[in-house]
Amino acid sequence: MLAFCVLSSGSRANCIYVQSGETRVLVDCGLSAKRAALRLESIGIDAEAIDGIILSHEHEDHSSGVRVFSKRHDTPIYVNPGTRGCCKHLAEVPEDRIRYFDSGIEFEVGALQFSPFSLVHDAYDPVGFRVSAGGKTLAIATDLGQVTNLVRERVRDVDAIILEANHDPVLLQDAPYPWSLKQRISSRKGHLSNELAAELVEQISRTNEDRLQVAVAAHISEKSNTPELAIEVFKKAWSRGGNTSSPTFIAACAEKTTPFFSL
Ligand SMILES: [Zn+2]
Ligand SMILES: [Zn+2]
Repeated sequence: MLAFCVLSSGSRANCIYVQSGETRVLVDCGLSAKRAALRLESIGIDAEAIDGIILSHEHEDHSSGVRVFSKRHDTPIYVNPGTRGCCKHLAEVPEDRIRYFDSGIEFEVGALQFSPFSLVHDAYDPVGFRVSAGGKTLAIATDLGQVTNLVRERVRDVDAIILEANHDPVLLQDAPYPWSLKQRISSRKGHLSNELAAELVEQISRTNEDRLQVAVAAHISEKSNTPELAIEVFKKAWSRGGNTSSPTFIAACAEKTTPFFSL
């Protein structure tokens, strides 16, 4: 059994809960330690029961709560050396609470198997993950500016995916951001637009047979996208791919936790 929910997602705070049996982890902790614990409590999980925080990259919206959470609940942090070296929220974390992984090399946390894969994003060594247990696999791919062949290959055969659908290009042009920020978001090292994410959804539809159960649109911008738009784009892409199965399409947001999905 592999179960997960997105505790928070968006430009402000990202935090995903994943569980298999007695193994419970967070992927990223961009919520404050207190808010992360409260959201865990709302799904019936005690923060003390978290076996590890797995960090995708150093950006504030993924790492701001990691130091305090780790200290308060004595939680090990799994991170690659590049992210460890440049993440300011890890600077004061003692070495004995750090567990290193290398991008591209599988590692285990209890019953969960993690397979980190490199993403193109304006961070030091950003990764997405395939998380597997009991024959089921969840892919997590947010904070990527482009869909590389590696990403395509890593997400094609999954049972669930949490996929970035950051912005709609037209809404982004009209958003109240400085030009430089718009440029950063839409660059090849920025964030995935609905359309680029949808191409991936279409490909999964073609290659995945009827395996996919859940697709979560994540890291949705509050100013240049809407959850409804992202889901609509995903659903259309799924139909274009010709797949006749009906996975659940849902959007994750910062305000509340998604439902709990068991695969
Ligand atoms: Zn982010
Ligand atoms: Zn980022």
